[in-house]
Amino acid sequence: MSTRLWHDRATSIQIDGRAFINGERVHAVSGATFENTSPVNGRKLCHVARCDSEDVNLAVLAARTAFEDRRWAGKSPAERKRVMLKFAELMRANRDELALLETLDMGKPIKYSLSVDVPSAARCIQWYAEAIDKIYDEIAPTNDATLALITREPVGVVAAIVPWNYPMLMASWKIAPALAMGNSVILKPSEKSPLSALRMAEIALEAGIPAGVFNVLPGFGHEAGSALALHNDVDCIGFTGSTRIGKKIMEYAGQSNLKRVWTELGGKSPNIVCADCPNLDEAVEAAIGSIYFNQGESCNAPSRLFIEESIKDKFIEKALAMLPAYVPGDPLDPATVMGAIVDNIQLNSVMGFIESGKAEGATLLAGGNQVRAESGGYYIEPTIFSNVTNSMKIAREEIFGPVLSIFTFTDLNDAIQAANATAYGLQAGVWTSDIRKAHHAARALRVGTVHVNQYDGDDITVPFGGYKQSGNGRDKSLHALDKYTELKTTWINL
Ligand code: NAD
Repeated sequence: MSTRLWHDRATSIQIDGRAFINGERVHAVSGATFENTSPVNGRKLCHVARCDSEDVNLAVLAARTAFEDRRWAGKSPAERKRVMLKFAELMRANRDELALLETLDMGKPIKYSLSVDVPSAARCIQWYAEAIDKIYDEIAPTNDATLALITREPVGVVAAIVPWNYPMLMASWKIAPALAMGNSVILKPSEKSPLSALRMAEIALEAGIPAGVFNVLPGFGHEAGSALALHNDVDCIGFTGSTRIGKKIMEYAGQSNLKRVWTELGGKSPNIVCADCPNLDEAVEAAIGSIYFNQGESCNAPSRLFIEESIKDKFIEKALAMLPAYVPGDPLDPATVMGAIVDNIQLNSVMGFIESGKAEGATLLAGGNQVRAESGGYYIEPTIFSNVTNSMKIAREEIFGPVLSIFTFTDLNDAIQAANATAYGLQAGVWTSDIRKAHHAARALRVGTVHVNQYDGDDITVPFGGYKQSGNGRDKSLHALDKYTELKTTWINL
């Protein structure tokens, strides 16, 4: 579809910002709403229900009732699988609408909403659907006189609280395994990007997920979010977001019913390029492509680049030559690869980091400016700093924007030590032709995922999560099912 047609559709699309509770679209009990504007051009999209503790109570009651009467958990695995496969199919059937909502709501290029976000979310739902009837319970090897059954049961009411950077995908990473295990789910999307989640709930209902099993509460973190995390009848929270809020969620669980808390948090991922990397062009392309993908608003963005001193100049020359391809453009233009920053607050935060980098003595090699301001939206040039040291704010804190910090090293062990000198531990890259160096670095890096001679390894079959303050859980893969499962042992006297 052309840019003009996407703009026509953007003008005519009907957007419903009401909450989704017990199978129905509803206003917040208080009647309150908040305005949702698009980062693409600053225009108003719709009013969204501003849910608070009253709506949380209603959603939890609906989810609890659905769980207790077993309208979902009580269905056979084959039936839950059939319904969830339908859910995935309908996601794909509604691809264009979901992609448009995603782009209008958070500013990512339509090209990627269409080719990454919707298909990956649908694949996630499909993959967990297909797993449902392949999970067996166990019998423990105890003795001949007794039978000890180890069975998997749903946890109950799961609250999923997710961020704005991949709204649909982050939602699917939570809801798909939680629903697959038979739980009821309440999803709280970010106040910055609630629209695709609300449509997903309608699509799930259409697919046959019973009313009350999947609810969506839009609203603010300090209102709907904290009320959910503090609620005594929520059994488990799957949280993806910042480390700061992740800590609060764990406190809320301690203050209430000690609900299970799984966190997927921030990152400051290192990418180490040795002089013997097998292909410098590939290393440059991966470093640049991965930091600027999604406008740098990715938890696993390789924002700290460690280059071996002897190849630094060549690397930087090649990196700078790639930047024109990442000039921000109209997100509704199918050719655009770098879109808008999610909102004015995030734009100011990223620009603040850029100013701090300059003030603390890093060398600004490229970018550093806000652009396309005349559009009414929020855009920042791809930015590169060199001569960064670990004491600088841009080296230590998660920027969550299109800013790359370059460090150099002469000894790989120094690079590994510097790479690990952070509170985060989400992902890392290492580029070398020497298998021993690769293996040594992969073992020594304190992160949940190491990429060797690539930075884009990603599949629903592999776990995604962090060490240290990047969180305590794993999304994706069969391991994610454990988060939404209780293990029960039943001893039977034979
Ligand atoms: P955030 O922590 O500000 O918000 C995340 C969610 O928590 C939102 O829905 C928000 O409304 C809610 N929230 C905020 N305050 C709350 C409170 N007091 N109680 C309950 N809920 C509350 O994060 P963000 O700005 O939306 O997202 C960016 C962060 O997410 C980055 O740090 C990024 O690295 C991280 N992230 C991590 C992963 C991962 O898998 N590790 C994936 C994507 C994003």
